Amino acid sequence: MSVSVVLFTADLRLYDHPPLRAALEGHRQAVPLFVRDRAVAAAGFAAPNRLAFLADCLRDLDAGLRERGGHLVLRSGDVVEEVCEVAAEADADEVHMAADASGYAHRRERRLRRALEAEGRRLYVHDSVTTAVGPGEVTPASSDHFAVFTPYFRQWSGRRLRDVLEAPRTVRVPPGVGSEELPSRAALPDVSPGLAEGGERAGRKRLTAWLRSGLAAYEDRHDDLAGDATSRLSPHLHFGTLSPVELVHRARSAGGPGAEAFVRQVAWRDFHRQVLAARPTVAHGDYRTKHDRWRSERTARGDIEAWREGRTGYPVVDAAMRQLLHEGWMHNRARLLTASFLAKTLYVDWRIGARHFLELLVDGDLANNQLNWQWVAGTGTDTRPNRVLNPVTQAKRHDPDGVYVRRWVPELAEVTGAAVHEPWKLRGPDRARIDAYPDPIVDLADGLARFKRARSRG
Ligand code: FAD
Repeated sequence: MSVSVVLFTADLRLYDHPPLRAALEGHRQAVPLFVRDRAVAAAGFAAPNRLAFLADCLRDLDAGLRERGGHLVLRSGDVVEEVCEVAAEADADEVHMAADASGYAHRRERRLRRALEAEGRRLYVHDSVTTAVGPGEVTPASSDHFAVFTPYFRQWSGRRLRDVLEAPRTVRVPPGVGSEELPSRAALPDVSPGLAEGGERAGRKRLTAWLRSGLAAYEDRHDDLAGDATSRLSPHLHFGTLSPVELVHRARSAGGPGAEAFVRQVAWRDFHRQVLAARPTVAHGDYRTKHDRWRSERTARGDIEAWREGRTGYPVVDAAMRQLLHEGWMHNRARLLTASFLAKTLYVDWRIGARHFLELLVDGDLANNQLNWQWVAGTGTDTRPNRVLNPVTQAKRHDPDGVYVRRWVPELAEVTGAAVHEPWKLRGPDRARIDAYPDPIVDLADGLARFKRARSRG
């Protein structure tokens, strides 16, 4: 009986999984393998919230495989060495895995192919597993990637997606391949108390609920901070417990303006992946390198700490930063305005903010995080890099009654309505009630002037 290995990476699911389908073709046995790659931890990417979500995902994947007669094999170490070892133990002639966009993923693929071929085995890398439309599938005439979203989205939308695959009914795993014990979230330290549950089952449940009762209103409500009216599917897309291809198919079949707006956001994810695949250095450096000259060298420690802890004196910024600490997740509008506040109003290097987000975000994702940060900081793909988001205007527009702020900033719980967005304007007894809340750490006009001065020098 011929044997394959399926290396699961950012695709921790059984539904719509082309590598697993290919590995099982012709009644083959397969070893479903996940490797805790020590290079990921060494790069500082193994943040507690993501490790906890990952633990849920691995347990759920194992449970799903067991229902089908198989189980998950877990190893730790160097991913290439571990895959080769498992392939040798199982006497496998093929290894299947998903393509991915980062420089790390490309190096992993190259090393793995070389090592497996040296042992007479073959590596198959499958597209459209971690993306709906993969890097390089649509390109402009004059470059290897799109630098602007709108023309990218036009081509992305015209692409025919492959059909969705069912989960396999049976998975037969050859005997004799040893596995480590699966991790458990309960045993992990420093996890945000409000962290969402991981795993394919949780992801599919959320998807079904979202399609039924969230999607239709998405276009109108996605920026409503208090309404929490986005899908919260980002961690499931990051860990691949949901397939982006399936997500797009199902949203499109639901139809309507909500679905159209939602699919457009999902395309942003693919857009950033094709930028990262073509320019791996954007993970650490500016996409528009000409702006290197004016990028901040400012390391205002006190300001950075206040921003991280949600003590800037700007209620909507503080609410968002505290939501991040508590849930390991933040609303997109909140990410935009907190990032703009750090990178433009406080004029701190975007990488300092991006690192903090990656330490906490359960969906923390190299392509989406770094490129969204650059988009906000004006070093990325934004066509209006000088735009600065005013946190007070943003708060009044996207949290008009102050509900979101009061939810996360208890010091302001007694301030009613939109007055909560400008506590420095309160007088008399109202003022006395919010004594515990800090004064603004920066004057917005001063911040704007500093940014403009720096920009004009560039
Ligand atoms: P929905 O609004 O329901 O959107 C559906 C899906 O579309 C999301 O799950 C996501 O995969 C994708 N999407 C939505 N907005 C964007 C966007 N602007 N860019 C790329 N994809 C998008 N997203 C991450 O997945 N990981 C990150 O680390 C991350 N860091 C960010 C940092 C900053 C500074 C900013 C401004 C945005 C960041 N985003 C990141 C993008 C976006 O904020 C999140 O994807 C979104 O808030 C997730 O919530 P949701 O699933 O409810 O989104």
